Amino acid sequence: MSDHRQALFRKIPSVDVLLAHPQIDAALSTQPRGIVIRAIHEILAALRTAIQTDMAVSDRELEPNTIAKDVMVRIGLLSMPSLRNVVNATGVVVHTNLGRSLLAERVLAKFSPLAGGYSNLEYALDQGRRGSRYTHVEYLLQELTGAEAGMVVNNNAAAVLLSLETLARGREVVVSRGQLVEIGGAFRIPDVMRKSGAKMVEVGTTNKTHLRDYEEAIGPDTALLLKVHTSNFQIVGFTEEVPLSDLVKLGQKHRIPVMDDLGSGCLLDFSTYGMIREPTVQEALEQGVGVVTFSGDKLLGGPQAGIILGKKDLVAMIRENQLSRALRIDKLTLLALEETLRMYRDPRTAVKDIPTLRMICCSYDTLVENAERLHALIRDMNTENFSIEQADGFSKVGGGALPLQQLKTRLLCLIPAKLSAQRMEIHLRHNDPPVIGRVEKDRLVLDVRTIQEKEFQTVAQAIKTLAKLNPSKDRAERNE
Ligand SMILES: *Cc1c(COP(=O)(O)O)cnc(C)c1O
Repeated sequence: MSDHRQALFRKIPSVDVLLAHPQIDAALSTQPRGIVIRAIHEILAALRTAIQTDMAVSDRELEPNTIAKDVMVRIGLLSMPSLRNVVNATGVVVHTNLGRSLLAERVLAKFSPLAGGYSNLEYALDQGRRGSRYTHVEYLLQELTGAEAGMVVNNNAAAVLLSLETLARGREVVVSRGQLVEIGGAFRIPDVMRKSGAKMVEVGTTNKTHLRDYEEAIGPDTALLLKVHTSNFQIVGFTEEVPLSDLVKLGQKHRIPVMDDLGSGCLLDFSTYGMIREPTVQEALEQGVGVVTFSGDKLLGGPQAGIILGKKDLVAMIRENQLSRALRIDKLTLLALEETLRMYRDPRTAVKDIPTLRMICCSYDTLVENAERLHALIRDMNTENFSIEQADGFSKVGGGALPLQQLKTRLLCLIPAKLSAQRMEIHLRHNDPPVIGRVEKDRLVLDVRTIQEKEFQTVAQAIKTLAKLNPSKDRAERNE
């Protein structure tokens, strides 16, 4: 080890010295001791790593006063809850890492009375006895989609697992090789199939599967024909997929039900809003599928849930499966789902008031106006750290929905000067609340489509803080 490095290590104050520092000592009267000690350890560890990896560490940075300041900041961070609000400036509307769908105001208004009080969750008020939690959404799902029956579980992965386990355990499920997808890392059709106890029979090839491939695979042990919506990718070029209606006809001929994992599951026809067509839940049901499953928090714009719709006898079997008890939906989720579905009774209300739909359908003109308003809040800023420009760009629907849909949008671009795009990204991410943008062509871009109106001031404030930052004193990267 170099002498210089050793000298720096020796200058690091001890934990006891820091605990006796007036600022930290004062913190001990309001904060749990464990948090204070942990904050000290973390800051000292970061300093040791910095010295070890030859980052420039000045003597001043090793003074107890300087370290105490960092410790206080760290105490603040450690005492914050882990799950927090963030500003989504990525332009990905259904962003799985950022919580997918925002619940509508109307839904939120229902939370407090229902969560803070008893409810008729499993109580039939008209009969004065035990009822089913699923009745609270089944009537709406039937009304909106024409389904004979429906039930809901924790998420769509659970819906697929439960349906396969009920309908095909120990038997065969025929599925196209072109639809053996992986979604979001943990959900893979072959793995879910194995967990369900069903035997997967793969047919066709990656790019082409014909009806005769399915027909040849059908045998005495076939329980189900499965179709999976290849949500997050599209095979283009020389391809062929069997239309759902043909699969249903084949199933009818052999008395085998068809299951359709729609993934996103939209109830509205997006092509009427100038977008690429995405198959709707209603269409799948009209074509005669046995069961269709989809997520509550993707294109539907509700809470995390898995929705199972279809024929009465099949849904009844799924409901009676013991496993459904383990995958059951919580009452707050049920409340959010019912209220979100109620908004679909008038599609205009749905598009206007369900945040996910509102953001996807937001017109370019509105986005230009919003970008202008956000820009106006920071236009008079004077900084050498970066400059700001507006530009056109594209947002994404996300959540595996409409993967080819490019949504034209307006971006606020922070163009690096004294601060690099990476540093700006880190700083905004460490803002309170965090602002999550994306680095694109060496700029930090903020997409106005996914920034909520009520967050404009927050974003402006975060950018102003970035403008005032002294780049030579910036240690953002070290504290990553
Ligand atoms: C997203 C998706 C799932 C998983 O749904 P979750 O609600 O995330 O559990 C399953 N299948 C398809 C086709 C999907 O797109």
